[in-house]
Amino acid sequence: MSKRYSIAIDGPAGAGKSTIARQLAAELNFRYVDTGAIYRTVAYFLDLLGISPKDTDGVSRYIDELTIGITYDEDGLQHMIMNGMDVTGDIRTQEIGQKASLVSAQPVVREVLLDMQREVAREHNVVMDGRDIGTVVLPNADVKIFLTASAEVRADRRCKELAAKGQKPSFEKVLAEIRQRDYQDTHRAIAPLKMARDSVKLDTSEMNVQEVLAEMKRIIGEKVTL
Ligand code: C5P
Repeated sequence: MSKRYSIAIDGPAGAGKSTIARQLAAELNFRYVDTGAIYRTVAYFLDLLGISPKDTDGVSRYIDELTIGITYDEDGLQHMIMNGMDVTGDIRTQEIGQKASLVSAQPVVREVLLDMQREVAREHNVVMDGRDIGTVVLPNADVKIFLTASAEVRADRRCKELAAKGQKPSFEKVLAEIRQRDYQDTHRAIAPLKMARDSVKLDTSEMNVQEVLAEMKRIIGEKVTL
């Protein structure tokens, strides 16, 4: 089998990982894997069942009843399939993001999803984004980039995204949620959000999408010849 390439992109909520990673994957003709969407699907499934993301016994009991599928449409958009149902749009709320952050601290969830993520990387060239891709999921990734931005900039971007969907978010509330998720994601016992030692840090606070993309391509070009 020919070598599979993997590019790991980690960073906190709202740093622009998915926008950038998706475009990068399209340009490289790699498969884009948004791992946050997988955690969101777990959170959404448990939410429908009325199981709290903090209820370790409940989560362990029901996780086996969930089958997660990932498909892609012609635009390269990742679709999440929960027990045969497309939930791509349903998982994109602040509430499910918050619940995903809580459920992702459950060891049984991380264990199940770890195999699933590694399996995709075994079969495809991937640009994979998340929190623990460079540290845990793909420690041997060819390129690791840690994308970050100030909490205020991330909250501002999230507000604009929500406004574009017709919602009227409060900046203060979104900022508080971002800070809370940062805290939860960096303080959990298993696979906390942290920069891998061999990762390149990119602070996007003062950069637009095109500038970030160009910089990422430069970093990738320094590490591998594709
Ligand atoms: O990236 P996104 O905001 O969609 O992720 C939702 C939550 O899923 C994160 O706050 C994080 O707690 C969890 N997550 C994770 N590991 C990943 C990707 C996401 O724990 N690789």
